[in-house]
Amino acid sequence: MPTYDFDLFVIGGGSGGVRAARMAAQRGARVAIAECAELGGTCVNVGCIPKKLYSYAAGYAEAFEEAAGYGWDVAKPHFDWARLKANRAREIHRLNEVYESLLDGAGATLIAGWAQLVDAHTVMVGERRFTAQHILLATGGMPFVPELPGKEHVVVSDQMFDLDPFPKRLLVVGGGYIACEFASIFKGLGCEVTLLQRKAHLLSEFDEDVRDFLAQEMRRAGIDIRFNSEIASIREIEHGLCAVLARGQRVEADVILFATGRVPNTQGMGLEQVGVALDDRGRVKIDADYRSSVPSILAVGDVATRQPLTPVALAEAMVVVDLLFGKGKRRMDYAFTPTAVFTHPNVGTCGYTEAGARMKFGEVTLFSSEFRALRHTLSGRPERTFMKLIVDKASDRVVGLHMVGPEAGEIVQGFAVAMRAGATKAMFDATIGIHPTVAEEFVTMREPMPG
Ligand code: NDP
Repeated sequence: MPTYDFDLFVIGGGSGGVRAARMAAQRGARVAIAECAELGGTCVNVGCIPKKLYSYAAGYAEAFEEAAGYGWDVAKPHFDWARLKANRAREIHRLNEVYESLLDGAGATLIAGWAQLVDAHTVMVGERRFTAQHILLATGGMPFVPELPGKEHVVVSDQMFDLDPFPKRLLVVGGGYIACEFASIFKGLGCEVTLLQRKAHLLSEFDEDVRDFLAQEMRRAGIDIRFNSEIASIREIEHGLCAVLARGQRVEADVILFATGRVPNTQGMGLEQVGVALDDRGRVKIDADYRSSVPSILAVGDVATRQPLTPVALAEAMVVVDLLFGKGKRRMDYAFTPTAVFTHPNVGTCGYTEAGARMKFGEVTLFSSEFRALRHTLSGRPERTFMKLIVDKASDRVVGLHMVGPEAGEIVQGFAVAMRAGATKAMFDATIGIHPTVAEEFVTMREPMPG
């Protein structure tokens, strides 16, 4: 048996990497983890966490607006961007330290620096050389910006948290999670927002009714959404930037955010030399056990996964730890992964879209509801809520659950348990609602949609 410095060497200290390192170390494995930046990866530093904090900040604008209808007179609110940035930075720094102490407490060795593969069991970090029985790639992803004249003037999501000064006019390019979330957040914080999407809808992977409803609500909130629009070039003008669209129109802005997707972080790590194959989308090619084409090298999270979501990376990491250091082989089930888009209002979704369900199950029954939530009867805000259930006709199983409305992420998380357990529409119907809530609508939809 060859002897190695470590049982597991993790490259990347984001959600998946830290989880795998920590849990493997807790099981007695000798673990090292290399990270070249702050611990916590995209989620903690420039993703989920700061984004949600800013989303809360944007929510206060709505709360101030709503307060009058409930009898509160609020003096004209003033927003202090510098204070929000400083408070966010302090909280993120605290989380970075929490991650470090979790690793430390579990007995994992943290190695600061850029890791490169040398062979199937060897990693270099700077001048230091380490060997390990297993190597786990958990290097995540990064924003992708297509080539275009003036590309150097745009920013990506990583930079949105520390913009200086706060932009008066923001142009967002893209119609996915990140584009929609930042459009909503910056609109809420007081910015004039235009969103350009190359297709005729937002959120391509989502249910069609959800996409249409969200676009309607975002427009109602004052975001200028332009579909079938692409940027041809960008140039600096006296006061800001000017984007020239493919069809000739111009949009002026102080900041142009490209939220045009993300690509896996696979460069500069020696993957090619060691023979780790990539798939057609540039992700590390893995088998059902997360092993790459080099069996001692595994990969989890955004660098390899089909579902680039933090909780998926955490779950994949646990499957790998069980496989290598414990409970043995098990498979992760990617169906019915719930997800939310933290727009205002939120989108929450679990299971199949209507089109996906028809393809997978054949005949489906649809239920949907659109209403103005009780809260807004006095708040005066015109925001509406949408909910939709998709039921497999043959089994009566609820195979799609979708919502656009307040706290959709929180609500759908709860229903996701029922969905995974295989709940039928009859079980939804037999569930007593909590009155008065928005969520009760999911258990009181009785009349199928025609067609
Ligand atoms: P998405 O894949 O969600 O969206 C990318 C958007 O950019 C799409 O609208 C796409 O258009 C558009 N696009 C792609 N290439 C071009 C191009 N060359 N020119 C113009 N438009 C283009 O990516 P995101 O970066 O927003 O998010 C990445 C992933 O991160 C998400 O899929 C999600 O898994 C995760 N994420 C999750 C969040 C959450 O859980 N709340 C929050 C943020 C990210 P088209 O629709 O035509 O393909």
